[in-house]
Amino acid sequence: MIVRKTAAEIEIMARAGRVVASTLELMEASAREGVTTAELDALAEEYIRSCGGVPTFKGYRGFPGSICASPNEMIVHGIPGPYRLKDGDLLSVDVGVTLDGFVADSAITIPIGTVSEQAYALIDVCQKSLEAAIAQCRPGNRLGDISHAVQEVVEANGFGVVRALVGHGVGRSMHEDPQIPNYGPAGRGPKLAPGMVFAIEPMITAGSWGVVSGEDGWAVYTDDASLAAHIEHTVAVTEAGPRVLTPRSTARQVATG
Ligand code: MG
Ligand code: MG
Repeated sequence: MIVRKTAAEIEIMARAGRVVASTLELMEASAREGVTTAELDALAEEYIRSCGGVPTFKGYRGFPGSICASPNEMIVHGIPGPYRLKDGDLLSVDVGVTLDGFVADSAITIPIGTVSEQAYALIDVCQKSLEAAIAQCRPGNRLGDISHAVQEVVEANGFGVVRALVGHGVGRSMHEDPQIPNYGPAGRGPKLAPGMVFAIEPMITAGSWGVVSGEDGWAVYTDDASLAAHIEHTVAVTEAGPRVLTPRSTARQVATG
């Protein structure tokens, strides 16, 4: 069942979303050569709590971090730790914040120093596929329109769409119905209605869309060691169309070339 939120609940989620977005801005500003992902995690947790929020991921099924920090061929769910960022890395950072009983969830992929042309292209295409998906979040459209929009943009650019991981409804819980694959036919699935809130999150690769799990039981990698990108927004379906609840004020310069 897809839970529809009231206008007042969406405003609470937008406040949670602002904390998520400013945490990601802090991560963008702080992630550079020589910094460890554990240091980023500590910064994020301190900041989220200073805003009155709770890092949603911490303790979720035993996850130890406040962020997921996933470098290079790691797609998602990286546990922050001693990994020290180096020039040329591509780092995906995922943040969830619970505020006044509601969750917002967003992710970005950050180039560390100067990255390869392929890495910039991967970020650009991931961002564009997310934007195409967000544009589908209108009453009367169907869930499959969101999925299809991602797949169309990603595959037209020669990259792979991960099948094993999906976006999701979000609200009082981080993971609500429905599951939102990043592939599939348009025009199928439930009709979208005002009050639905989705975490839409293309996970794309420069090669195969197959995945392998890491030994820690969390990290998910591309199965051919190709680079991955992951960008996510929490988006409300409203009468007026899509409303992104996790917008950042820092535009992704690399996303526009
Ligand atoms: Mg997320
Ligand atoms: Mg999510």
